[in-house]
Amino acid sequence: MNVAGGTFDVERIRARFPLLARQVHGKPLIYFDNANTAQKPAAVIEAVDRFYRNSNANVARAVHTLGDEATTAYEASRDALARFVNASSRDEIVLTSGTTQAINLVAYSHALPRLQPGDSILLTQMEHHANIVPWQLVCERSGATIKVAPINETGELIVERFIELLTPEVKLAAVAHVSNVLGTINPVATLARECRKRGIPLLVDGSQAAPHLDIDLRALGCDFYTLTGHKLFGPTGTGMLWARRELLEAMPPFFGGGEMIREVRFEGTTFADPPHRFEAGTPNIAGFAGLKVALDFLDELGQEPVFAHERDLLAHLADALARLPGIRIFGQAASKVPVVSFLLDGAHAHDVATLLDQEGIAVRSGHHCAHPLMQFYGVPATLRASLAFYNTHEEIDAFVAAIKRVRKLLG
Ligand code: PMP
Repeated sequence: MNVAGGTFDVERIRARFPLLARQVHGKPLIYFDNANTAQKPAAVIEAVDRFYRNSNANVARAVHTLGDEATTAYEASRDALARFVNASSRDEIVLTSGTTQAINLVAYSHALPRLQPGDSILLTQMEHHANIVPWQLVCERSGATIKVAPINETGELIVERFIELLTPEVKLAAVAHVSNVLGTINPVATLARECRKRGIPLLVDGSQAAPHLDIDLRALGCDFYTLTGHKLFGPTGTGMLWARRELLEAMPPFFGGGEMIREVRFEGTTFADPPHRFEAGTPNIAGFAGLKVALDFLDELGQEPVFAHERDLLAHLADALARLPGIRIFGQAASKVPVVSFLLDGAHAHDVATLLDQEGIAVRSGHHCAHPLMQFYGVPATLRASLAFYNTHEEIDAFVAAIKRVRKLLG
C-alpha cells in the first residue's frame, strides 16, 4: 500500500527511484522532463540487470533453459501490455522499439499499399514529428497528401473541423492521444466513433497518454494504438503497436529477417502470423523484461492515487505559473495532463533552461519535435515542465522560485 492515511505517500515512492536522489550542480535534482523520458524504479533496473546476469539468451530459437527463460520474459511483457491497454488478445500486441517504429510500421505496412494519388492522411496541428514524417514519406511514394485538422489558441483540437475533414479521400487519420507540448488530452473516443462511421481507420499515438491515463482500447474504439516504454518508467528501446487483429492479419511484413517467417525458400517465403510477423530480428529482450516490471510497478501503485496526485500537481503548477508576470503559457486545455509549456517575456528558452539546470532543475527547451505546433504559435521554441507522479509540491515551489531568480538574472 502506498496510500498513507488517504494521501499519496510520494516520499516512499520517490525512494524507489534511485536517480531521484542525485544532485546536479550541487543541488537536489528536480526532474521535470518526464515527457521526454521518465526515470526508472530500482525494480526495473534490477530486472534488466538480472536478465543479463541470469537468463541472457535469444528468444524463440533455443530449446535450452536460458532460451526458454528469455522467451518467457519477453512474452510476459506482451501479456502485461495486453492487460495494461485492455486488448482483446495478446496477439494484437506487436512489440516495437517505441512509438516511432510502431507508426512507421503502420505507415509502410498498412497505409502505403492502400494509398493512391488523390488520397489523404488526416493529422492534427499538434502532432509530434513521429506522427507526421512517416506519413509524409508514404505520401511522397504514393502521391497521397496530408490534411491537417486545426487547433484553437487554447491548444485544443477543433473537433468539428476534424470531423468535416473526414472526407472520402481520407484513408487514415492519425492523432496524438495527448500532446507532448501542450498536455492536451484529445477526445479520441469521439474521433474514433466519427472515423468508424465513415470506415476510416484511426491511429492513436499514445506515447504521452500511457503514463497519465487509463488506456482501455476496447472502450476507445480506435484501430491502431502505440505506446513508448521509456516514458512509462521502463527501459529505452521498448514500445508497442496494438492493432485490431483483422488489420494486423491483412498487413504484409515491414522488416524481413529471422523470427518472422514460417518457411523460407529462395523461390519465396511464407510469414509467421501476427504479431511475430512484425518482429524480425533479435528484440530488446532485457528491455522488455524491464518493461514488464515497470507495468507491475504501476499496477501496484494503482491508477486512482497516481492520477489524483498528478491532478493535484498540475493544479499547483498551473496556479503558481499563472501568478508570475511576464509569462506566456501555451496550452490551457480543459482536459490535460501535467505538462506545461511556457516562455518568459524577452528570454530565450534555452537560456532559461541552462540557468535552471544550474539550479539542478531539468526542463526541456526547444521545439519538442513539433515544428508545426511551434509555427502555429509563432515561436521557435518553448520551455516545457512535464511532471510525473514522483514529483512534489515542494519541487514545484522551488522551480517557481528559480524562475523568478532566472528572470532577474536575464534582466
Ligand atoms: N509521439 C509523441 C507524442 C511523443 O512525445 C514521442 C516521444 N517524444 C514520440 C511519439 C516518439 O516516441 P518514441 O520515443 O517511443 O519513438
